[in-house]
Amino acid sequence: MKKPGLGLSSERLSAEEWTESAMCAQTDPERFYPELGGTAAAARKVCAQCVVRAECLDYALRNNELYGVWGGLTRQERRRMQRSS
Ligand code: SF4
Repeated sequence: MKKPGLGLSSERLSAEEWTESAMCAQTDPERFYPELGGTAAAARKVCAQCVVRAECLDYALRNNELYGVWGGLTRQERRRMQRSS
């Protein structure tokens, strides 16, 4: 699976605009898909500096992305966020 996803527009930036600014595109994509029981710390560090973090998280939530770290959150964290909203 490639990230970030393409084809969906954000209300703030178009998909093309936000994916062009994705910091993960400049790093090792493997860190965004840690093995079961692995840490997401390396991905979180990158996401914390990413200027399109909000757009990325919005995309993942709206598309129920099952795998990987999006917007600095793991799948479990995104599910918790969706349940609490
Ligand atoms: S927030 Fe993280 S996963 Fe999303 S585009 Fe930025 S670096 Fe990539």
